[in-house]
Amino acid sequence: MIQVDIVLAIAIFLSIPLAVVFALWIFYNFHGGEEKTAADSAEQVQQCPYCTCVFVNDKQGDVVMCPKCKSYIAE
Ligand SMILES: [Zn+2]
Repeated sequence: MIQVDIVLAIAIFLSIPLAVVFALWIFYNFHGGEEKTAADSAEQVQQCPYCTCVFVNDKQGDVVMCPKCKSYIAE
């Protein structure tokens, strides 16, 4: 039988959450899929030249409407 002293108990107590975090990191790193990140949406951020409203343009197209002043903005 394995004798569990205080050092081994602390080592097990600290290594179990570390192993769980490592397993979750591996899981989400390789099974994350095609989720959008902040870097993807940063490319879609636009500023209206009329009212200086900053908004995220999630639509594809040449003409975008400002959500604040409803002006049409050509990209
Ligand atoms: Zn505007």
